[in-house]
Amino acid sequence: MSVEKTIPYKIYLSEDEIPKQWYNVRADMKNKPAPLLNPETLKPMGFEDLRPVFCDELIKQELDDTTPYIDIPQEIQDFYKMYRPSPLVRAYCLEKALGTPAKIYYKFEGNNTSGSHKLNSAIVQAYYAKQQGLKGVTTETGAGQWGTALSMATAYLGIDCKVYMVKVSYEQKPFRREVMRTYGASVTPSPSMDTEIGKKINAEHPGTTGSLGCAISEAVEVATKTEGYRYVLGSVLNQVLLHQTVIGLEAKAALDKYGITPDIIIGCAGGGSNLGGLISPFMGEKLRGEKDYRIVAVEPASCPSFTRGKFAYDFCDTGMVCPLAKMYTLGSNFIPSANHAGGLRYHGMSPILSQLYHDGYMEAITAEQTAVFEAAQRFARVEGILPAPESSHAIKAAIDEALKCKETGEEKTILFGLTGTGYFDMVAYQKFNDGDMTDYIPTDAELEESFARLPKVND
Ligand SMILES: *Cc1c(COP(=O)(O)O)cnc(C)c1O
Repeated sequence: MSVEKTIPYKIYLSEDEIPKQWYNVRADMKNKPAPLLNPETLKPMGFEDLRPVFCDELIKQELDDTTPYIDIPQEIQDFYKMYRPSPLVRAYCLEKALGTPAKIYYKFEGNNTSGSHKLNSAIVQAYYAKQQGLKGVTTETGAGQWGTALSMATAYLGIDCKVYMVKVSYEQKPFRREVMRTYGASVTPSPSMDTEIGKKINAEHPGTTGSLGCAISEAVEVATKTEGYRYVLGSVLNQVLLHQTVIGLEAKAALDKYGITPDIIIGCAGGGSNLGGLISPFMGEKLRGEKDYRIVAVEPASCPSFTRGKFAYDFCDTGMVCPLAKMYTLGSNFIPSANHAGGLRYHGMSPILSQLYHDGYMEAITAEQTAVFEAAQRFARVEGILPAPESSHAIKAAIDEALKCKETGEEKTILFGLTGTGYFDMVAYQKFNDGDMTDYIPTDAELEESFARLPKVND
């Protein structure tokens, strides 16, 4: 007779159990993600082509489709110890409130000052920049989570950080801006008048409040024109997804301790890095034919890259200076409506996840903003954590799955990624509490207009 071990509220790993290697899911993919293309020649970009923009070691990781495990340098392991391992929580209180027989677990990445999983990759990118002897890094930030994480990492390592922050966020999110400046980063509202692309965008669209794609173009321009600087990015790229596999590796190690196998794994998807990181070790088993899992991406109905986008080569930025990536995209000209999950407002999706989705290894669904905040509120009231609006997309989907189990009586095990906290999103919560929140869903005509401007690439 087997005696089931009692599952604690929080399954912690010890410090020694923090992963010492990242897992590169591309090694187990039969169809590899398509290569990045040079926007002018449309030829695949190799190591040398990418060197003016990215740090050398990170380019190697970006291009590596074959090495399954990549060592985490000791200094990064030591940094991880300051806030990892992150807890895997059994949502007993939520289960009780829902009256579901389902077992719900979430991996909580909000336990650091930047408030999200983004620190897991920020420290790695800053580390390799320093190791290469660079003076600093440039980047963009939309809602501010990535800029905050990168400021913390660069402060720790003592290198410079220049952040181009989408103007509307710069003005509306002064607290995030000041956190970044406290950690020593310089923060410039984008589009600025410091760059050629910024001047051009300002001239063409006077009074524009900016976009993520535009801030990326500015940050890339500054990196390539300033001696001793490179550009770093907080999502979408293969290297970022690789770094985020610490989430999935820890989650799997914690579940394995108690012999738990999830039936469904859920994550929110903006550029795909947290979801990719959470699912990678599970996806590896699925790709190798060892196990099967249902894997679900949740995206905002206002920015539906997977569910309504095209799988095509597209620009990663508005200025069209970055490499072309083959991904599910709404078109680099698509500007999503101002929803409150800023971290999910990107037109494209990780090329790795795009390929896996295209090949049928995972599903994607959308959630509307008001329903997402209803789920966030429900979760906060019973589990105590105030979730980020981005993370709440995953909460919404997990609750829906648990309620289905209530109807059918199935005792499914659900794992979802709780990527961060929402303390800087109280304006959004206020809108929700006041009943002023609206749901905007783009029309087919709007999307077609954007698709018509996709670059013409034969692939
Ligand atoms: C940035 C962010 C996301 C979305 O980014 P991914 O690359 O899709 O993971 C999700 N949640 C939080 C809290 C974020 O800051």
